[in-house]
Amino acid sequence: MGINRGEVGRANRLIEESDSVVVLSHQNPDGDAFGSVLGLGLMLRGAGLNVKASWPDPVELPLKYEFLPGKELLISPADLRPQGLVIAVDCANAGRLGELEDAVLKVDNIINIDHHPDNSLFGTVNLVDAAASATTEILYEEADDLGLELDRDIAVCLYTGLVTDTGRFQFSNTSAETFRIASELVEMGAEPNRLYEEIFQGDTLSYMRLTGEMVSRAVFEPETGLVHVFMPQEELRRFGVEMNETEDLIDSLRTLRGHRIAALFKEQDDGRIRVSLRSRADTDIGTVARSLGGGGHRVAAGYTSEKGSFEEALQELKGEIVAP
Ligand code: 5GP
Ligand code: MN
Repeated sequence: MGINRGEVGRANRLIEESDSVVVLSHQNPDGDAFGSVLGLGLMLRGAGLNVKASWPDPVELPLKYEFLPGKELLISPADLRPQGLVIAVDCANAGRLGELEDAVLKVDNIINIDHHPDNSLFGTVNLVDAAASATTEILYEEADDLGLELDRDIAVCLYTGLVTDTGRFQFSNTSAETFRIASELVEMGAEPNRLYEEIFQGDTLSYMRLTGEMVSRAVFEPETGLVHVFMPQEELRRFGVEMNETEDLIDSLRTLRGHRIAALFKEQDDGRIRVSLRSRADTDIGTVARSLGGGGHRVAAGYTSEKGSFEEALQELKGEIVAP
């Protein structure tokens, strides 16, 4: 699914005709969401638009993303009155906009820029390319045709999306194109080692201890290849870690030899269980997440279980996993 050139032209005209724009991304945002919102926000500001940026609460950057430029564009969803033009980035469907969904669906023009294979094309203009490793890859490729310019700060934002969504250029979505773009972003001033230190050496001691606790309780089932663990709210409180710091926690399960699927069950503050799924390249976990009401990529996906307990949610997941 490549990007339709006519849609790019329409997006370009909408941006040219607008004085202001709201840039949004999905709930439980990750590095690609942060990098896309702030990178695109800065590009649009540079083009002379009044820019506001947000995502479903809490609109805070986790500590390790605080270095990102463009934070001054961020505004709480409660203070946002989207009208005119909204651009959604890294957001597979309008439901992922959480409390912002209703207001967004009422605006005249929505540009939907994303790389999820299950994108619902909810925009009035859709720039969707499932072959892109990150949404920031699309932003880099299309900036010129959208009439937008890059600078060093924007390169830092776009590189952040690339390096996080590709697992530091090692996941199966990493292509020669990804490296080419990364190389050009480095030439523009993104510094790989500095960003590595910020993002991947930015854990607090509380977070590291929570990781240790999680790994120590992980269960591996060699017959299905599933490694799973439940993380109750109480544990987050005990370790003093915020939920929005736990986006990468699942990565600590993925180094296990012989596993096929990693599942992290996180109890939300409303008691529901959010399930993060990751798989090795030969196992499609996106289909599993979709059949349970969520979505995502082939090897990184998620959903919120309607079951009341971890045990039931685990059984529900196992019922959808096809044996190897
Ligand atoms: P994570 O485990 O990091 O929350 O999510 C992994 C991937 O699955 C991300 O690409 C995210 O956008 C997608 N994803 C997670 N939860 C949902 C969900 O409830 N619905 C959809 N459509 N995608 C999800
Ligand atoms: Mn992404």
